[in-house]
Amino acid sequence: MSFIVGIDGPAGTGKGTITNLVAKDLNLSQIDTGAMYRAFALYMLDNNVALDDMEKIKELLDKVNIDLIQENDKEIVFLNGKDVTSEIRSNRVTKFVSPVSSIIEVRIKMVELQRKMAEGKNVIMEGRDITTYVFPNADVKIYLDADVEERARRRYKENVEKGIETTFEEVLEDMKKRDYNDMHKPMGALKVAEDAVVVDTTKLSIEEVKEKVEKIIKNKISIL
Ligand code: C5P
Repeated sequence: MSFIVGIDGPAGTGKGTITNLVAKDLNLSQIDTGAMYRAFALYMLDNNVALDDMEKIKELLDKVNIDLIQENDKEIVFLNGKDVTSEIRSNRVTKFVSPVSSIIEVRIKMVELQRKMAEGKNVIMEGRDITTYVFPNADVKIYLDADVEERARRRYKENVEKGIETTFEEVLEDMKKRDYNDMHKPMGALKVAEDAVVVDTTKLSIEEVKEKVEKIIKNKISIL
């Protein structure tokens, strides 16, 4: 039997951080699906493959190998055996990933991998379409939301801490663009699942969001 917690929401709502903390507390395997799309976007960039070159994209999809490994508190992302954990957070990947993740063939492959990764496990999986498309029957569905300016502030702070050079305006602009793209994808568009619990994190601390999310999950476990 496997127990699936799906967390969706736009960038900068704290999905990654919350997923990480909850996974540890409740002993769940964690799957960051955004990291998978980022790894594939990096693969395309490294091979100079354009967004409309379907032949080459299909070739790469046949060859790609993406592994997410949990090491202590950190998630390490491997692309064909190479550690790309930092590289997938770079500006060039962040700018490229949303159009890459709009390509239907890319989505089909990533969703197939995501479903396989969760087989037989108790998982918490985060992304944009987990509760609506990847696991429409997930045991727990959560949608994290927050005001776009607040999300951009959080992402900017993170970038500064990681030494990624950007301005706040650039981060805000990029976030608005990604929100638009993510919500208007032909497949896997970001939307709130009918039966999802929406948590607005704008004015909440990480600890408060974590507590809310854990309460939602524990309530569900107790009635299963
Ligand atoms: O979550 P993160 O910001 O790392 O995701 C990177 C990008 O990957 C998102 O902007 C979105 O376009 C795409 N994505 C997606 N479906 C998912 C997860 C991420 O389309 N399940």
